[in-house]
Amino acid sequence: MNDLQDLYREVILDHNRTPRNFGELEDANRVVEGVNPLCGDRITLYVKIDGDTVEDISFTGTGCAISVASSSLMTERVRGISRQDNINLFNKVHDMLTANDYDSRKVDDLEKLAALSGVREYPTRIKCASLAWHALKNALTDASDNVSTE
Ligand code: ZN
Repeated sequence: MNDLQDLYREVILDHNRTPRNFGELEDANRVVEGVNPLCGDRITLYVKIDGDTVEDISFTGTGCAISVASSSLMTERVRGISRQDNINLFNKVHDMLTANDYDSRKVDDLEKLAALSGVREYPTRIKCASLAWHALKNALTDASDNVSTE
């Protein structure tokens, strides 16, 4: 274990123990349900979009540490950001989690979200980490209110 991996693990544990933005959002105008049947993760993402900006966001649900931490880190990052910038962010995170030829120097750009890069080593956990992000993408586009990783 090197220091960076320790730091990443600490961020995941912290966000799992104390998820940020956890709870329903009463004035949400998009609500997306996400399930990852492989692991049993379920989240409900509440998003309030004002014009072109994610004005507020929260989530509820149950799941493994990776899925909860990923949801928490995601909601912490995307507030106040435009739809297109968030879709770009989704693409960067998706790339970090799944691309075979991923250049690890790119994680600098993602700041704290880089903590999720550790799941690259565990293919069965990638869907846990990406679930919240797929729900976000659906909320920002005219896609369905239900997301399944299967
Ligand atoms: Zn999971």
